[in-house]
Amino acid sequence: MSLKGKTAVVTGSNSGIGLGVAIELAKAGADVVLNSFTDRDEDHALAAKIGAEYGVTARYIKADMSKGDECRALIEQAGKCDILVNNAGIQHVAAIDEFPVDKWDAIIAINMTSAFHTTAAALPMMRAAGWGRVVNIASAHGLTASPYKSAYVSAKHGVVGMTKVVALETAREPITANAICPGYVLTPLVEAQIPDTMREYKMTREEVVENVLLTRQPSKEFATVEQLGGTVVFLCSSAAEQITGTTISVDGGWTAL
Ligand code: NAD
Repeated sequence: MSLKGKTAVVTGSNSGIGLGVAIELAKAGADVVLNSFTDRDEDHALAAKIGAEYGVTARYIKADMSKGDECRALIEQAGKCDILVNNAGIQHVAAIDEFPVDKWDAIIAINMTSAFHTTAAALPMMRAAGWGRVVNIASAHGLTASPYKSAYVSAKHGVVGMTKVVALETAREPITANAICPGYVLTPLVEAQIPDTMREYKMTREEVVENVLLTRQPSKEFATVEQLGGTVVFLCSSAAEQITGTTISVDGGWTAL
């Protein structure tokens, strides 16, 4: 399938899942806008490399997804947004009675509220273009919970709820909204939470991977960024035209348990 002529904005896409999604969309022919809160030469070089490799227009636009006005400015600066992938996210692991308030606020802002702002800014563009796809990268933690992740689980459940509302508000239009719920994917976000989890559970790294991270993933394998990118491309295909307001789990069986 070809996404030639479509422009995709992927938030939080200079690493991990967002980068993998942007690459799969570019492979399918979409022009892509990469984003994060930094403005380094390497961010722009990454976009240039993707553009050259896949023969699409690829740009990097700096915008901090913790700030509502910057979320909206990202979409305005993109100029066109046929495919919106809300992916930016952070994590912090702590018991709820010790959870730092600033971390709570940042996780809710970046992982959930940013999707409200970008969706609000992108829908008029999708309506004008007569086609649109909103894909929210939620999590297995949008459907289930784990201890020590109060802010993350709350934000991801919120994203799943918001996805359903956007789908209902666009149900009579050629626009769909869905959430992808990955299990564990070995990205910098997951790497970063291993030391905290080792401390919380008094475990070695290997024990954390086997007994904590993948304990609820029956396949005992991490999902890959390519698989998640492929799922986004599928949601942009004509086969997915009537798929809206739902979640697609890419979690090795986690939510079947
Ligand atoms: P990552 O840390 O590799 O990537 C996160 C991206 O978000 C980075 O590009 C980072 O620069 C960006 N980002 C962080 N704060 C930002 C801000 N304020 N403004 C703009 N961009 C910002 O993590 P990842 O694992 O690729 O996670 C991507 C998404 O997938 C997140 O929403 C995460 O919750 C979700 N997810 C990840 C996993 C997993 O196992 N890795 C599982 C389920 C869901």
